[in-house]
Amino acid sequence: MEQNIYALLPGALLPWYAENKRDLPWRKDTDPYHIWVSEIMLQQTRVEAVKGYYARFLNALPTVEALAKADDELLHKLWEGLGYYTRVRNLKKAAQTIVNTYGAFPADYKSVRALSGIGDYTAGAICSIAYNMPTPAVDGNVLRVISRLTDDVTPIDNIAYRKQVQAELAKIYPKEAGTFTQALMELGATVCGPNRKPDCENCPCHSFCLGAKRGTADTLPIKKPKAKRRIQERTVFILSCDGQYAIEKRPANGLLANLWQFPNVPGKLDVKSAIEAVEKMGLKPKDFHMQVERKHIFTHIEWDMIGVYLSVADTDDVRKWMTLEEIKAQAALPTAFRQFL
Ligand code: SF4
Repeated sequence: MEQNIYALLPGALLPWYAENKRDLPWRKDTDPYHIWVSEIMLQQTRVEAVKGYYARFLNALPTVEALAKADDELLHKLWEGLGYYTRVRNLKKAAQTIVNTYGAFPADYKSVRALSGIGDYTAGAICSIAYNMPTPAVDGNVLRVISRLTDDVTPIDNIAYRKQVQAELAKIYPKEAGTFTQALMELGATVCGPNRKPDCENCPCHSFCLGAKRGTADTLPIKKPKAKRRIQERTVFILSCDGQYAIEKRPANGLLANLWQFPNVPGKLDVKSAIEAVEKMGLKPKDFHMQVERKHIFTHIEWDMIGVYLSVADTDDVRKWMTLEEIKAQAALPTAFRQFL
């Protein structure tokens, strides 16, 4: 039964996509560099949010060569707010491999797949969209659609299931490979979306979808329960002196490596302890202004933060002191800290 359903997909999706596809900036051409950048940005971020980042990134770094030579500060700034900064570091690393090893963007799946930060999904997307190869791009969206179409209760985060779907799709890829990849993604992003009931009435696959037929589509896909996030408490100091604010570089390794932050310490301090902590930093607190509570959620950790706003008597040489405008324009401050601005 499943084989038949897979085989019906090109005939249903290609004409539907031609009529219904959204006009997105990365669909204007099939340059592998453009496809790659957009796919990496879209991995953890909504389409609407990515549009601006995509335009700014390609404007600043229009070629793989430019990306390979890009300054890390510029890269972090271009990625600021997108999160998962390892993605942009891998982009640069892969760009350097492309320039130094291949001279141009490689045009075979194996070489593309071997680049830093590129897994099966991204390699499949680049090779099918840019080079029209029959290489499926199977992500959570596609797995959700397939599990509903085939009424399959296998958890979609099961790696063997992903591989199986990839293999089944590879068998039925039409000659319009790139268009088919995008059509399947489009179905998962629009009518068969994640956070709402699937819009089965307007779906081109309605006539053969087992989930719709059996009334199980709303209950799919099945996912393994997620591990609970660890909660870490922190006190963040927004220290000002004559219109300048103190920021500092985060360590070169670990979470948000090499990005900027407001000085902060573990635990949630009351005002008196916060003032003492600032004194221990070698600064002289003058006025306490306010404190605010903020949270930031990472994949496995949640920061439960208290932001303490203090003015101090003098700047120092340990931290970097910048005006708000300078911070906004020059320093890559992750969202966890930017929310205190
Ligand atoms: Fe998804 Fe409904 Fe279409 Fe099936 S018919 S693929 S459940 S939108």
